[in-house]
Amino acid sequence: MSDCLFCKIAAGEIPADVVYQDDEVLAFRDLGPQAPLHLLIIPKRHISSLNEMTEADQQLVGKLSLTAAKIADELGVAEDGYRTVVNCNAAGGQTVFHLHMHLLAGRQMTWPPG
Ligand code: 5GP
Ligand code: ZN
Repeated sequence: MSDCLFCKIAAGEIPADVVYQDDEVLAFRDLGPQAPLHLLIIPKRHISSLNEMTEADQQLVGKLSLTAAKIADELGVAEDGYRTVVNCNAAGGQTVFHLHMHLLAGRQMTWPPG
């Protein structure tokens, strides 16, 4: 999608602090971090939200979690723990409509989330 912020980041048209990428996914630092470590993990292919997932996206969406776990391990936060969050649509707090998984770590998370 030509007017999608995260598609532009995936295409390298807008700079981002990238920590991991392969042919399917990209992980980069959130511009407004809510924890000492706050990454966004996105599929390079545009999917607007969890609502737009299809059966064909199962592997790709699952890979977001696997990538989060691998990055958490590599950055040394896996044992202490971390939180992954996917916000969906307005009531879920989604503001960028390209599917992304937040990876938050480096502080004690609270429950329930706001
Ligand atoms: P959402 O609210 O949709 O779940 O999360 C969107 C996230 O994208 C927010 O945490 C916000 O700080 C982050 N964000 C918005 N614009 C940019 C940007 O241009 N670059 C980066 N790295 N993060 C962004
Ligand atoms: Zn997009």
